[in-house]
Amino acid sequence: MSKDEPRVGIIGAGQLGRMLALAGYPLGIECVLLDKDPRSPGAQVAPSIAAELDDHDALRRLARGVDVVTLDIENVSIDALAALAGVAEIRPPVAAVAAAQDRLAEKELFRELGIPAAPFVAIDRAEDLGHAAALGWPLLLKTRRLGYDGRGQRLARSRDELEAAWAELGQRPAIAEGWVRFDRELSLVGARSSREAAFYPLAENTHRDGILVSTVAPFEDAKLQRQAESWLRAIFDRFDYRGVLTIELFSTRDGLLANEIAPRVHNSGHWTIEGAETSQFENHLRAVLDWPLGDTAARGYAGMLNLLGSMPPRERVLAFRGAHLHDYGKDPRPGRKLGHCTLLDGSRDRLLERLDELRAVLA
Ligand code: AMP
Repeated sequence: MSKDEPRVGIIGAGQLGRMLALAGYPLGIECVLLDKDPRSPGAQVAPSIAAELDDHDALRRLARGVDVVTLDIENVSIDALAALAGVAEIRPPVAAVAAAQDRLAEKELFRELGIPAAPFVAIDRAEDLGHAAALGWPLLLKTRRLGYDGRGQRLARSRDELEAAWAELGQRPAIAEGWVRFDRELSLVGARSSREAAFYPLAENTHRDGILVSTVAPFEDAKLQRQAESWLRAIFDRFDYRGVLTIELFSTRDGLLANEIAPRVHNSGHWTIEGAETSQFENHLRAVLDWPLGDTAARGYAGMLNLLGSMPPRERVLAFRGAHLHDYGKDPRPGRKLGHCTLLDGSRDRLLERLDELRAVLA
């Protein structure tokens, strides 16, 4: 590697860090990762420092050797990130990461920017539970912090269930959120540098038990696309954002509602590796390095299936015409995201048929 090769430090080396590092190679970008697991998905493909993500010394070591520091996970200590000020540029901005870490701050951000979201009540102490009934039943109790993939979340159908959910979640600060009767879940992935912003087409997502199982993109609706882009743009501007940002949305009879934001590349954007002119991973690297962004146009229709819990036999997937297999190099564990598989087709109907066939092969 030559000395003037751009170097990007990545905090976290899960599958997102791994796919970021892989996207860097063709552009001559060297990624260096930080993760407590020396055999992490990212460490298998790029140099990596083995340390806790909030280890100040390790973070400084990472930051000193790179042009810019970014993240593959939003649940990183804000204090630890703030301590890097003056050592390296952190992109996305720490304030955006802080807002995405805290469901209450996130809701307040949506409110401030006029972005509609599900009604909610802040639950800081047991007495606040009484106010939640105003949201109607059922409702969801979500811890303010460390909630993702359905973790830190409980459904409550009554006051008794709400009390039980609050106890089960450890009486931690939370929000109670009104149940949204959505027609479908969508997400928008966008990238922003100091000069420009670029948006992928909307993707339609299916979740099971709070975990993404599949994505089909593009979801073609010009009005919803425009609306979602205007919300992402407002968040970009609010933080002078750099990098990829994702907004998850509920599409309801009465229009779109924002669910949450992720200040990073996103599982619902994995289809862009084969399905778009430039992948979300490449565009994140371009954005944090302040390089020109790549074309976000879709190449026909793409379907992405997550491989959860166990990997299917490799030969069977590879024998399926057109299937693109991504193996994250993780040990199997029930429900764990171990890989994904993408299919492309020029026709949406044919794609959906072939996705069903691929699902049967993976089962
Ligand atoms: P989250 O961790 O907030 O992204 O929630 C995970 C999944 O739970 C979402 O993708 C939805 O499928 C579901 N979910 C979350 N919040 C609500 C809500 N207020 N109403 C209905 N479903 C929800």
